[in-house]
Amino acid sequence: MDASVLRRLEGIVGRDNFFSSLEDRLVYAYDATPKLEHLPAAAARPADAAQVQAIMRLANDAGFAVVPRGSGTGLSGGAVPVANSIVLLFPSWNRILEIDTENLTAWVEPGVITAHFHAAVEARDLFYPPDPGSMKICTLGGNVAENSGGLRGLKYGVTKDYVMGLEVVLPTGELLRTGGKSVKDVAGLSLKDLFIGSEGTLGIFTKILFRLVPKPAAARTMLVLYDDMAAAAATVSAIIAAKIIPCTLEFLDAMTIRCVEDYAHVGLPTNIEALLLIEVDGHPAAVADEFEKIRRLCEQHGARAVHVAHDAAEADKLKTARRAAFSALARMKPTTILEDATVPRSAVEPMLRRIHEIARRHNVTFGIFGHAGDGNLHPTCLTDERDHDEMHRVERAFEEIFDAAIELGGTITGEHGVGLSKKKFLEKIAGPAGMEVMRKIKSVLDPNNVLNPGKMFDLKPRCETIA
Ligand SMILES: Cc1cc2nc3c(=O)[nH]c(=O)nc-3n(C[C@H](O)[C@H](O)[C@H](O)COP(=O)(O)OP(=O)(O)OC[C@H]3O[C@@H](n4cnc5c(N)ncnc54)[C@H](O)[C@@H]3O)c2cc1C
Repeated sequence: MDASVLRRLEGIVGRDNFFSSLEDRLVYAYDATPKLEHLPAAAARPADAAQVQAIMRLANDAGFAVVPRGSGTGLSGGAVPVANSIVLLFPSWNRILEIDTENLTAWVEPGVITAHFHAAVEARDLFYPPDPGSMKICTLGGNVAENSGGLRGLKYGVTKDYVMGLEVVLPTGELLRTGGKSVKDVAGLSLKDLFIGSEGTLGIFTKILFRLVPKPAAARTMLVLYDDMAAAAATVSAIIAAKIIPCTLEFLDAMTIRCVEDYAHVGLPTNIEALLLIEVDGHPAAVADEFEKIRRLCEQHGARAVHVAHDAAEADKLKTARRAAFSALARMKPTTILEDATVPRSAVEPMLRRIHEIARRHNVTFGIFGHAGDGNLHPTCLTDERDHDEMHRVERAFEEIFDAAIELGGTITGEHGVGLSKKKFLEKIAGPAGMEVMRKIKSVLDPNNVLNPGKMFDLKPRCETIA
C-alpha cells in the first residue's frame, strides 16, 4: 500500500493506534480457520465511529480494503485479511453502555467479550442466551456479524433473535442507525436483519442493542452415555416428540469422547459410542417435571448410564465434556478442520452415518460433536496440512459431507458462516437467483467493494482479493 495512504491512516487514528511493523501485521494475518492467512498492510484501532467513518471514506478514495476484526475466533476466515487491506481492531470498544431493566434491553459496544456480557446481565437477574463455545474470547460484534449460535440455541435461538438495533458505519462512510427498543416495529424494510450475519461485508457495527430475557429460575443438567449411536439419536427424537424443548441437547461421538477424556479427565468411559449432554431450564416445577420425563426417555431408549448433576458445580463439570470437545480433538493432529454441516433435526442420525461412511471411504479421521437438538453438527477432521495427499482426500470428504447435508434438506453452515472457506459451496444453497440478489445488495452498499471484499462471494473487485 502506498506510504502516503498509510500516513493518512495513521493521521486518523494517531500513532499509538496504528500498527505497520511486520510483527504487528503477522498477529492479524489469520483467524481460527486453518490453512488461511494473508498479511495486512497495517492494523488500526479507531477510537470512535467518526474515525471508522473517516477510514471508510479514505478506503473508497485511495482504493484499499478494510477488514473488521473482533477476537479472530471465526472459523470461516471472515477476519482473515485480503490483499491490499488494513485490519480494524476494537479491543477498547468493550463497554456495556446501558442495561435497561424496564425495557429488558442493553446497548453495548462491539468489542465486549460475550461471556463478560453474560456475567453483567446475570448480575441483574437477566439473561442473554447465545453462548458460542468460544464465548470467553469472542466479541459481540463478531457474534452479530456471524449470527453465532451456541449450546442454548435449541430453546432460545441464535444471535439474530436478540438484536433489536444497530449503529453501523456503511462501506461508503455514512452512519446508519436502525431498529430500537420498541418490541414491535414494522416501519420500512428491516435493515438490521440485513446486517446480522453479513460477515463484516456490508457495514461495521459501532453499537449494538440487544434484547434480554428474565434469567431462568432453575436449571438441571444430565450427561447420558450410550453404547449405540442410533440409540442416542432416537432419544433426541423422542424428547422433541414428547414436546419438551431442553435448552441444551448436545451430542459427542466415540472419537470425541475418547479425546475429551484423555484431555479433560472428566471420568467418561472410553468404550461408549455416544453421549448426550442435556439441560432443561425455566420455572423450578416445570424443570423438575421435564427433567424426570427426559431421564425416563433416555432409559427407555437404551442409555447405558444417566449422570445427574446435583448442583451448579457438578453441572459445570458435566458441561466440560462438551465445552472441551474442540480443544480435545485439536490436540490429536497438527491441523484441525471444524465444520458445521447442518440438517433438519429429524435427519441427524442418517447424517451421522453418512459422515462416518464418507470418512471411512476417504481414509480420513473425523470426530463429530454438535448441537443434536437443532441438527447443527460439527464434523471435525484431524489431519496434517503438510500431507498433500491426505489434504486432497480431506477436501473430497468435506465436499461430500456438504452435499449429503444438502441432500438431507440441510445447509453448508449452521453458525460459522461462509467467509472464505465455504464460498465455493454457497451457490449450492443460494441458487443463481439468490447469488445475484446478494451481489446486487453488496454492490449497492459497497460500490467500490472495499469492505471485507471476497468474503462469502466474489464481485468484480476494484481491490484485488485472495481466491
Ligand atoms: C473453540 C471455538 C468454539 C466456537 N464455538 C462456536 C459456537 O458454539 N457457535 C458459533 O456460532 N461459533 C463458534 N465459534 C466461531 C466463532 O467464535 C464465532 O464466529 C464468533 O462469533 C466470532 O467472534 P470474533 O469476535 O472472534 O470475530 P472474528 O473472528 O474476529 O470476526 C468474525 C467476523 O465478524 C466480522 N466482524 C468482527 N467485528 C465486527 C464489527 N464490529 N462490525 C462488523 N463486522 C465485524 C469480521 O469481519 C468477520 O467477518 C467457535 C470458534 C472457536 C475457535
